[in-house]
Amino acid sequence: MILLDGCRVVVTMDEAGTELENASILIDGGVIRWVGRGRPPLGEPPEVLDGRGLVALPGLINAHHHLYQTHTRVHAQQGGLFDWLSELYPIWATIDADWERTAAEVGLAELALSGCSTTTDHHYVFPAGTAGLLEAEVEVAARVGLRFHPCRGSMDLGQSSGGLPPDGVVEDIDTILAATEAAIQRFHNPAPGSMCRIAVGPCSPFSVSERLMRESAELARQREVRLHTHIAETLDEEAFCQATFGRRPLELLEDLGFLGEDVWLAHCVHVNDADIRRMAATRTAVAWCPTSNMRLGSGFAPAREMIDAGVRVGLAVDGSASNDGGNLLAEVRQAMLTTRARKGAAAMTARQALRVATRGGAACLGRDDIGTIEVGKRADIALFATDGLTHRGAEADPVAALVFCNPGPVRHLFVEGKPVVRDGQLVNLNKVGVR
Ligand SMILES: [Zn+2]
Repeated sequence: MILLDGCRVVVTMDEAGTELENASILIDGGVIRWVGRGRPPLGEPPEVLDGRGLVALPGLINAHHHLYQTHTRVHAQQGGLFDWLSELYPIWATIDADWERTAAEVGLAELALSGCSTTTDHHYVFPAGTAGLLEAEVEVAARVGLRFHPCRGSMDLGQSSGGLPPDGVVEDIDTILAATEAAIQRFHNPAPGSMCRIAVGPCSPFSVSERLMRESAELARQREVRLHTHIAETLDEEAFCQATFGRRPLELLEDLGFLGEDVWLAHCVHVNDADIRRMAATRTAVAWCPTSNMRLGSGFAPAREMIDAGVRVGLAVDGSASNDGGNLLAEVRQAMLTTRARKGAAAMTARQALRVATRGGAACLGRDDIGTIEVGKRADIALFATDGLTHRGAEADPVAALVFCNPGPVRHLFVEGKPVVRDGQLVNLNKVGVR
């Protein structure tokens, strides 16, 4: 039992957006038992953590990532998506379990230190002859202590079949479906409070056959796991879909049975009003990746419009080769600023951006037990100090300061009631990314 005592502000992120000043949170057995001002109803004396001066947020939730890319930052610096991918595929063709483990250590450490308590990962590169890739990142996430939703990703459309990736990094459909089924069997835990859930993630329209998309969706529904893919990221992709399938990317997904409340889609940059209505009507969620979309020159996802239309939108750092970082709080700032650049200074508040990165992420991952600080929810809590140099002069609104000012590291991070970051240090990981 731990009492996070006397926090300067507890941002509950509940439906009404309640914020409690000088409030405390009682954690017991991985669950939030009490939130409020004054003294909690205590049975036994708990461990007490001094929350004075700290802002408590629900742990941030990262809705799209490619951890293996952490070892390939700053490549193809002037390349758009297709050029960038074409330069990187041959390097990624050499990955192995050791690469995956060390990349996951770096990527998950970065996320944790930015206040992220839950992340997905979309791993879709399985070069012939490699083994243990998904297993490696599942092991690292468990060791670091983060809640993890890895996608067993896939590509089956190599260059010789009209796809973008070289043939050496794609697999055949039977291998993919069998490996996905095996991953679900081995790692997926559907129970409340689950620390690991598998999703099915064929990569993108230009690297996956229509048959694999359809059969992936069927498998996910049969096994009651979530479905994920990249869509509508660039105009090149839209042109590819029109030329190859005679349809826009979202139309293609609809025809393939790939929309629904069990689906979340990365990017959705080039979507029109009809696409947005289709996503809202089908309760399909979106992982918004502002930094990656700017880095590759892909454009700006109309996140404000999607949210206003009732689409459930979460936030994501995307892979570390197209973000060149994995700081989710920095991404919250990007989300707010890019929205303002598009739609004016009133278009997104700091709190709205934080809401996307918490409740929105929970919706992407199909979780109703995380994303808020409320009694009965899992105890995933990020505590940030706002007394450092970057927050000097921002005392008037410490919550807004977390987003408006340059992002500082998390002071303490709890996941499932257990400390993952304590006093700014990772609790369970000493050597990070050593190969
Ligand atoms: Zn991605």
